[in-house]
Amino acid sequence: MRNLSVFNSLTGKKESFVPFNKDLVQMYVCGPTVYNYVHLGNCRTFISFDVIYRYLLHLGYRVKYVRNITDVGHLENDSDDGDDPIVKKAQKENLEPMEVVHKYTIDFHENLRKLNTLPPSIEPTATGHIVEQIELIEKIIKNGFGYVRNGSVYFDVLKFNNTSKYGKLSRRNLDELVHNSRTLDGQNDKLNPQDFALWKKADSKHIMKWNSPWGEGFPGWHTECSAMSMKYLGNKFDIHGGGIDLKFPHHDCEIAQSEALDQNSKINYWLHANMLTLNGKKMSKSTGNSILPRELFDGDNEIFSKSFSPNVLRFFFLQAHYRSILDLSEEALMASEKGLKKLEVGIKKISKLKTSKSTSGFDILNWEKNCYKAMNDDFNTPSLISNLFDAIHYSNSVLMGKEKISKKDQNHLLNKTSIFFSEVLGLNLIGDKKNISSNELLEKTLDILIKIRNKSRTNRDFETSDKIRDELNKIGITINDSENSTTYEY
Ligand code: AMP
Ligand code: ZN
Repeated sequence: MRNLSVFNSLTGKKESFVPFNKDLVQMYVCGPTVYNYVHLGNCRTFISFDVIYRYLLHLGYRVKYVRNITDVGHLENDSDDGDDPIVKKAQKENLEPMEVVHKYTIDFHENLRKLNTLPPSIEPTATGHIVEQIELIEKIIKNGFGYVRNGSVYFDVLKFNNTSKYGKLSRRNLDELVHNSRTLDGQNDKLNPQDFALWKKADSKHIMKWNSPWGEGFPGWHTECSAMSMKYLGNKFDIHGGGIDLKFPHHDCEIAQSEALDQNSKINYWLHANMLTLNGKKMSKSTGNSILPRELFDGDNEIFSKSFSPNVLRFFFLQAHYRSILDLSEEALMASEKGLKKLEVGIKKISKLKTSKSTSGFDILNWEKNCYKAMNDDFNTPSLISNLFDAIHYSNSVLMGKEKISKKDQNHLLNKTSIFFSEVLGLNLIGDKKNISSNELLEKTLDILIKIRNKSRTNRDFETSDKIRDELNKIGITINDSENSTTYEY
């Protein structure tokens, strides 16, 4: 089963996955920048890595999954200069930067929970790791790859490139970069326009700033991920991931920083999730070409004629491979909604099949092998889904009396389809506890309490039965006892 191969962006090839420590996988994924609501594009990337996390767990690995929150220092337009959008938003809305960060972190968590993603093992914030970032910059300066200019610290790209290769992930040529770099205002401090900021000097009006050996300032965008990944995963770890738009400059700068710190540092597999597009263009916070999860789930938008559930959105994402571009459209969402329903109903029906002495027309062990083959081939979720449809197709033939299934095979098929559907793909099956509304949950809880109360009354334990009645009364729930039954009102 552990015959996994992954596409490594660093080498541009599919490679066998072998973690540094036999049973432990260490994985770092770049998290959101929390100055705006997460849009569906951001959600797609985090779901892609959620499935990777889930499958590694399913294969029996222990996984240390670190996903950060960028709450300072992500500069605009992928450049290393300009304003921090969190600070800009705080100024615009007259809020404390931490109010901005808190509001959008809550939104991020709520949406990922609705989309049934598992929380990472550690979720560190950039502002919580300023000390580590300052230490990292000091080491880079000491190793000769950083220089201080006018209260800011820059990474010396040309010097680094003399001993190592800068831009190896995005396969950019430094000469091309020299040619393409514009000399912007404020870049005069840099020795070369390709250099990037490790630390930026803050002017007196800047609100998010910290003391440092170079004066008051704030960290550059790329500094945080190197500092936090090294702190929690060390200088050698297995997987580093993020959206494909982070390859350059963010991830190439991270590689340069890690190597400037320690030549032996190594991240084995770089995984990049491709973009969600809307109207054929990348969904993006800054251009406004975006739709928010809430707008899709409530149908509160001008783009689609109806609402779609989080489960349908998740299924829609997983019907495409994580490395393919995916365009969001009503037609595609409708098709996913239909397909998901068919799959859910089909899996439920497997438990109701009439069994025979033997199985005909379907090799279940081979089918299971194909499911693993799909996921072992760089997490090929569309191929896994197509295998799940094959199982449903077969189950329908049994239902129609065209094929037969033994009791043992029925259990096996039900077990495996449910595991792939719920545990690996993270989809909710109809009737899953997670699908119960809060009202249903309340009613079920009250039924349990009433049963306990009736039992205590039968046992003449009036202290307990009265306590249950009185406590419920306090929160507005009245218990009515009649001769044969107990009902409640709220
Ligand atoms: P941000 O909050 O902008 O830093 O983005 C958070 C994550 O979402 C990063 O990994 C981005 O690469 C990813 N991302 C941004 N836009 C899209 C998109 N349109 N489709 C898929 N992923 C995206
Ligand atoms: Zn990052």
